Amino acid sequence: MRIVLVGPPGAGKGTQAQFITSNLAIANISTGDLFRANVSQGTPLGIEAKKYMDSGDLVPDEVTIKMVRERLAEDDARDGFLLDGFPRNVPQAEVLGAMLDELGTRLHAVLELVVDDDEVVRRLAGRRTCRTCGTVWHVDFDPPTRDGVCDRCGGELFQRDDDREETVRHRLEVYNDQTAPLIAYYADLGLLIGIDATGPVEDVTERAIAALRPLNHDWS
Ligand code: AMP
Repeated sequence: MRIVLVGPPGAGKGTQAQFITSNLAIANISTGDLFRANVSQGTPLGIEAKKYMDSGDLVPDEVTIKMVRERLAEDDARDGFLLDGFPRNVPQAEVLGAMLDELGTRLHAVLELVVDDDEVVRRLAGRRTCRTCGTVWHVDFDPPTRDGVCDRCGGELFQRDDDREETVRHRLEVYNDQTAPLIAYYADLGLLIGIDATGPVEDVTERAIAALRPLNHDWS
């Protein structure tokens, strides 16, 4: 099965992607994670991408598309995948359609996680990440016992540059300008399935699986 996951930053795409892909036994491909891995390894791609990521802008299409093309050519993507964070605009969606045509295949569904803007800002601007072990806390929903200190390893907590409130608002603007048009694009193609992404994580996963399972035919 080949799925695209869309939704604003902070909708919980990364978390849901993990559960959905393990449930459906398909590859989990996140362009944000691929970029972050390149940033932490200091590759030329990472150095280029970081400039855009830190300000909440999209990395240029040609850089992103090349990276996705290479990732989709890997073995584990052959039998199905979920794309988290790609496509992010209509031109990327058109290129994805052409890539799948070349491979003689197609998308089966585009799952939209629906969350409103205020909830997104609350979720992301309160997020704190441990510098040492990477655990993510939340000042309201999952606070550490001591402010600024990781309960798991005692490391220092910090706010990711792209989680600062002004950057979150900018990422939302970018989403509404560039990514939201994808919703209409995929609705026209008859591929769009929207689910409510508020409430407990397990409930959202259940809604996602319930929406995708009926498509459990013709996954070639
Ligand atoms: P994410 O973790 O999906 O929110 O992605 C983090 C950042 O990576 C985004 O704010 C963009 O700067 C960049 N990024 C991820 N996916 C794409 C994409 N498909 N096109 C352009 N930039 C992207």
